[in-house]
Amino acid sequence: MVRLQVRTSSRAELVDITAEVQSVVRESGVQQGVCHVFVPHTTAGLTLNENCDPSVAEDILMVLDRLVPWRGGYHHAEGNSAAHIKASLLGNSVTVFIRDRALALGTWQGLYLAEFDGPRQRQVWVKIVSA
Ligand code: ZN
Repeated sequence: MVRLQVRTSSRAELVDITAEVQSVVRESGVQQGVCHVFVPHTTAGLTLNENCDPSVAEDILMVLDRLVPWRGGYHHAEGNSAAHIKASLLGNSVTVFIRDRALALGTWQGLYLAEFDGPRQRQVWVKIVSA
């Protein structure tokens, strides 16, 4: 398993980690298989979505804010319930097939670490399975 370090720079942002994960796949030498990506955090998640037009990432964050505002009469004493809820909505793992020693992504797809309680140092765990 490879542990990537990702430094986030604001409370909420989508950080494109496609290139970093592609590097892990390439260096593994695996031609065909599966790439599991996992974030070991409760206030960050992962999502696959368009990484061509950056407005898409902005819109995702904007709508998540509408759905789950920072202040919402939550019970959790730490005060970051919105971040926990958003992380659960997106999920904390993604699996992508490996084809020809690369992530087999759709044309417009990129892989994002979704930060919801930054800025922080985050980890992304990547496990490559040959198949
Ligand atoms: Zn908390």
